[in-house]
Amino acid sequence: MMAEQTWPERAIIGFHLDEENHWVADLECGHTRHVRHNPPWQNREWVTKLETRRLNIGKTFICKKCEPL
Ligand SMILES: [Zn+2]
Repeated sequence: MMAEQTWPERAIIGFHLDEENHWVADLECGHTRHVRHNPPWQNREWVTKLETRRLNIGKTFICKKCEPL
């Protein structure tokens, strides 16, 4: 049986738009993660507004680009 892998949680330090105009979160580890607002599948209206993006700075995402713990 394979051991279950877990990845570290990394804080969001900023956001930027990619070349296709999708929002990307910049994580403290230097990796990035898409935070697409693509309703009805992905509903993240907060990411479309500067005010609510700011509120999410410092929140954490599991970073699967980092080495598993
Ligand atoms: Zn990472």
